[in-house]
This record gives sequence, C-alpha cells and structure tokens, in this order.
Amino acid sequence: MEKQLIHREVVIIGSGPAGLTAAIYSGRANLNPLVIEGPQPGGQLMITTDVENYPGFAKGIMGPQLMEEFREQAARFGTQFLTAYVTHADLSKRPFTLTTDEQLIRAETLIIASGASAKWLGIPGEAPAPRGLGGLGVSACATCDGFFFKGKPIVVVGGGDTAMEEANFLTRYASHVTLIHRRDHLRASKIMQDKAFKNPKIDFLWNTTVEEIIGNPKDGVTGIRIRDVNTAEERIFPCEGVFVAIGHEPNTGIFKGQLEMDEVGYLKTNGRTMATNIPGVFACGDAQDSYYRQAVTAAGTGCMAAIDAERFLDNLPVEMPSGEEVTIEGEIVTADHQKIILPDGEVISNNAEGDSASGD
Ligand code: NAP
Repeated sequence: MEKQLIHREVVIIGSGPAGLTAAIYSGRANLNPLVIEGPQPGGQLMITTDVENYPGFAKGIMGPQLMEEFREQAARFGTQFLTAYVTHADLSKRPFTLTTDEQLIRAETLIIASGASAKWLGIPGEAPAPRGLGGLGVSACATCDGFFFKGKPIVVVGGGDTAMEEANFLTRYASHVTLIHRRDHLRASKIMQDKAFKNPKIDFLWNTTVEEIIGNPKDGVTGIRIRDVNTAEERIFPCEGVFVAIGHEPNTGIFKGQLEMDEVGYLKTNGRTMATNIPGVFACGDAQDSYYRQAVTAAGTGCMAAIDAERFLDNLPVEMPSGEEVTIEGEIVTADHQKIILPDGEVISNNAEGDSASGD
C-alpha cells in the first residue's frame, strides 16, 4: 500500500504536557504543527488522578481533564493530530523523514516529546497475557487497574515516590497493600514516605526482591516468589495483584545512533536550549529530562522547544529564483553553494576544506 505523504514545518512526536505545549506555541506562530500521538495519547497524566501541583488550578485538577484542556488549546491554534506509531526516523538530512504504518512524514523541524514508559522487573510471569499474567493481576498503573482489586491483598514493588503514590491509592480498593523494596530504606520523598507509613492498610517488606509472579489464566495472580537479599532465603508470598512501580525509561529507542543520549536513553540537549546534536531536531519533556520529570517542567521545555524550532526556521536561508540563498543575517550563498558573500561584500569559501575565497 502506498503511504500517505505529509510535509510540515513542525512535527511533534508526543501529546503529553511537553508535546502539547510545543503545539500551542508553534500553532500560535502559524507553523501548523502536526502532533503524532502514540499508544498513550495525553501521556502519563492520563493515568493519574488528582494533579495538585500544576499552577493555575488552585483546587487541583484530574490528570485526564488537564490533558483535555491542553489538547483543546492546541487544536484552537491549528494543531493537527495523527494517531500513529513512528517506527523509523531518518534524521540524516532535512526534511527529516518519519515512517509510520500508513504515512511518510517529512518534517522541516522535529520536536521530540515522546515521554517515558513504566519500567518492568523482567521476571517470569510478568509479561502480558497469554505469555504471562500481565493484565491478569500484574499492572504498572494503579489508577488504571486499581478498581479490579476490590477487597484483595496486593503488593507494590519499588521504593520511590511512584511506589508510595501507587500504594496509597490502592488502599482505596485493596484489602491490604504490601510494599516490597529491595533495600532497607526508601528513595521516596519524606512527605510521601510519611503518608505511606501512616496508612494502616500498608506494610513493608524490606531487603526483598520479587523473583517470579505465580498464577494461572483462570485465577490470575495467586502469589509471588520472593527472596531475602541478606539471607538468600526464598518463599512464596500469597497475593492477588502485583503493581510494579520501579520508575520509567525514556521512549527514545528509534533515535539510537542518530541523537546523542545518556546511558539510560535520555536525549541530550545543548546548554539552555532544547536543541539536540542535529540542527532542526529539538527534545523536551520526560524524553529529555531525567531530573525534574514534572508536568509543569515538561510543559516549560515544550514551550522552549517550540521557540527554538520557530527561531531555527526563521534563520534558514531563503532560496531566490536565481538559486542563491539569502540568510536572515543578509549573507548570500551562491547557487553552486561554493561561496558565501557577507553583507559587507567579503567573499568567503563555503567549502569545508578551503578556508577563503577572498578576491574572487
Ligand atoms: P525512582 O525515584 O527512580 O524510584 C524507583 C524505585 O524503584 C527505587 O526505589 C528503586 O530502588 C526501585 N527499583 C528500580 N529498579 C528496580 C528493580 N529492577 N527491582 C526492584 N526495585 C527497583 O522512580 P519513581 O518513583 O518513578 O519517581 C521518578 C520521579 O518522579 C522522581 O523524581 C519522583 O519524585 C517523581 N514523582 C513524583 C510524584 C509526586 O510528587 N506526586 C509521584 C511519582 C513520581 P532503589 O531505591 O534501591 O534504587
């Protein structure tokens, strides 16, 4: 099947707070942005309940409702949305080419706001059904699946803020929540720890790892095999649900080998801008930020990426009918691309190997 060809000045991958803020800004700059929404439109806030720290909402707001507002605002300024999964990105030349199942998308500038996804333990029984018990009692999203565990004993794995938040939330439904952590103290912030310690429905299993999730397709999860890291002793711990809350990893796999990233996969940006190592490609939100990871900081970097993209486009040379290109600084690049005539008349070589063409 022939793919649909789409060409845009600004293409944004991702529709969380970073991607939609980039869309609002580039839409208001008349750049007709295209937002490619992947498997989880709206990003991680779609699986969150109360958002109490997003400025402007004194009484708090539900995550999905906040994202609906973002989306409406982006649409109001001409953003187009495409639900598709980008399978390949060619960033070797501009326009950049993105491939989806049904489209070939050419982008003069690309803003990557592809966010991060939940990490998994990689143990037997964890994979999605039918290979494992994923969806049959194993989950990484309490707000999505907590409802299914009414009156059941469950475990939450992890020691960070996500694990505390998930555990507290799950006590609304579960008969009891056991938080399992591989060390003897938590990584979570003090306030989140205190909330979990005070909750009478939560208790803790320290220095413990989960080695296997046990169950069957008919009954779902029936227990886990756990290991004491100090004694190496293993035992079966009965439970009916397992929530894995051990952090997130950036969704940047398709850019490996093209864009600079750290060892985990967070995209590197340049100084105080959102520019990556490829001119015209910008990164923002949780795909780029491993440190703050907040909705409001994601939105902030989305705004910065859009302004960077707009300035990049503004500074591109304009092609004249003669074939010459004129840059915003008034430099003229000759039609054969061999020389640059500076505004004061000086002629320099545009050839990487020749350092000067003065006097020509
Ligand atoms: P995190 O801070 O990286 O914590 C991950 C936890 O999972 C750590 O306790 C870690 O153990 C454990 N872990 C990682 N890999 C593991 C494995 N293979 N097996 C067992 N345990 C493993 O991640 P997060 O909790 O998702 O938080 C991420 C960021 O978002 C943080 O900055 C956090 O403050 C923020 N956040 C804020 C809120 C809020 O304010 N409401 C809510 C959620 C997240 P170790 O401690 O031993 O490394």
